[in-house]
Amino acid sequence: MKTAAPLDSATDPIARRIRIEQVRLLYTQASLSATAALFVAPLVVLVHWQVVPHPVLLAWLASLETTILVRLALAAAFRRDPNAEGNTERWANRYTWACATSGICWGGCTVLLALSPSPVYQSFIALILGGILMNGVLTMTPVLTTCVVYALPLALPPVLWLLLQDDLLRTTMGATGVLYLLLALGTAHRYHQTLTRSLGLAMENLGLAQSFAAAKEQAEEINRRLAEQQAALQDSVEAMREFHQVISTPYRHASEQIRAMLALGCRRFGLAIGILARVEGECYKIVQVIAPNNDIAEGDVLALSDTYCHDTLRAKSPLSFEHAAAGRWRHHPCYLKFKLEAYLGTPVQAGSQPYGVLCFCDFPPRPAPFSTVDRELIQLMAQWVGATIEQDRMATATQRQHTLLAHASRLNTLGEMASGLAHEINQPITAIALYTEACLAQLQSGPVKPAEIRETLEKIAAQSARTNTIIQHVRHFARQSKPQYLAVRFKDLFDDIADFLLLEVRRHRVHLLQDIAPNLPPVLADPLQIQQVILNLIHNAVDAMSDSEGSRSITVFARLDRWAIEAGIKDTGPGVPPDMLDQLLHPFFTTKPDGLGLGLSISQSIVEAHGGRLWVTPNQGPGVTFRFTLPVATNANASERDSADLPLETS
Ligand code: ADP
Repeated sequence: MKTAAPLDSATDPIARRIRIEQVRLLYTQASLSATAALFVAPLVVLVHWQVVPHPVLLAWLASLETTILVRLALAAAFRRDPNAEGNTERWANRYTWACATSGICWGGCTVLLALSPSPVYQSFIALILGGILMNGVLTMTPVLTTCVVYALPLALPPVLWLLLQDDLLRTTMGATGVLYLLLALGTAHRYHQTLTRSLGLAMENLGLAQSFAAAKEQAEEINRRLAEQQAALQDSVEAMREFHQVISTPYRHASEQIRAMLALGCRRFGLAIGILARVEGECYKIVQVIAPNNDIAEGDVLALSDTYCHDTLRAKSPLSFEHAAAGRWRHHPCYLKFKLEAYLGTPVQAGSQPYGVLCFCDFPPRPAPFSTVDRELIQLMAQWVGATIEQDRMATATQRQHTLLAHASRLNTLGEMASGLAHEINQPITAIALYTEACLAQLQSGPVKPAEIRETLEKIAAQSARTNTIIQHVRHFARQSKPQYLAVRFKDLFDDIADFLLLEVRRHRVHLLQDIAPNLPPVLADPLQIQQVILNLIHNAVDAMSDSEGSRSITVFARLDRWAIEAGIKDTGPGVPPDMLDQLLHPFFTTKPDGLGLGLSISQSIVEAHGGRLWVTPNQGPGVTFRFTLPVATNANASERDSADLPLETS
């Protein structure tokens, strides 16, 4: 059988472990073998008491029992040594030396053999020595050296003495003793090897069991981390779902959407207060807030240094803590003033400019720490809020530009109508001058009764009223005002400017006809803007027909089309070439030498801002029809317009 190369216990940990186990086994069995020897030795003395001189017997017994007691003492000391494993070799050497002296003492039995009077006594001694040898071989095999240094001095002296005797019996006993000794040593060697192999296997098993336990622990740790990651992932998916729900829900205005975002933050982070604040210099102004009991209100202004947001802005990233009193935050002015324990906040940037802070806080401490998902979610919220504020800012600016442009367009239309208007105003003024001269002439010709000039004065009053009406209309259109949405009837809108329009159409010998369906529901509109659209379209139609030879007429019509009023201006002018139809509504498209090309595109954007649309179609006969729709006024869209200008821009 092939044996493995012996392992070095100094370098190889398994060999070292095996050695430790061997020494431990040696000591474990030491008590048993030593105790047996302790009681057997007196028996030898007892049997030989009558035949061997007492001093020899007692000297032998004393020396042997001393070595046996030393072995028992060593065994007890080994058991008590807490660091026995660290001193394996020292303990092995000590016991080996003790066993060697024991073996020598047992070998001293040869003296008793020599002094024994008969073969019976000698056989008794040989029997005892054989038993002690076998006992040693069985209990000392874990450490082979110990076994050998015990067995050889024990067996060799008596065996040699027997072999050297002259009679056959003793020589045979000696030869048998040699055989037993070899057998015992061979058996000890085999036992030792088997034991070493078993211990090696046990060590390997132990190593395997340990690495298995380590692998199991590692797998459990990985599982635990995976479960945590899965929970975090689920949490972030849920957060994203809620976030998406808020940003995809159609709200009437950005401020409502931001409020929904604050509510989402309060719910998710488990904090009662949500704030969007604008920061300007050292000024911290609350733009929107969700707070129980209305402790904090929109428009409240605080010193920036009295808020945790001051530190958030300095950190330029999310700042969070769950229990201010438990850390350095307890010295912060915000804690000292408001006793806010839990806080999560992040800076908000609108466009490329710093805007302020989005934060959530609460008075009681937060039981669970803020997670990575929480911090990422608030950053996402802040990005969205910043983008919404910027969008709102741009929409406001666009609206302002649009209002200015619409005003400029009205002034332009009035400018184009100026000569006609001047003519219209000139007529009554001329009439007034003539009537006044007539009055004066009457007065100069002598005393006049009031009744005689009354009629002339009434005519003067009528003419000045006519002038005043025209000027009122001009002022109406020339004024600059913010859009004001009202529920108005289309017929009223038109009637308000009808006589003003008549001035324009009459001068160009155009018939203005009406085909407005009765009892139309009101539309939600800014009257001035819709009147501007009607004026633009009629002015264009008049312009287009100014060179027409045939009959010139413009029909203003309106009818109900499901949820909207469809209105239009139909003319009998030259129409528009089909390839030009698409371009009419483009800004700056004009066929007039001094035209701006803005009237139609501004009309289109006005109608679209009202939620309708404007388009042009060629007529069956001559001319074109411009049509536009306006949504019928409902409670919902009326309140929508009411809240349309909530201020996000707080500066
Ligand atoms: P502008 O009147 O300054 O030219 P508009 O945007 O009001 O600007 O009109 C753009 C162009 O559309 C006009 O130049 C004209 O050629 C054409 N147009 C507008 N209304 C009519 C119409 N009723 N009939 C024919 N062409 C029209």
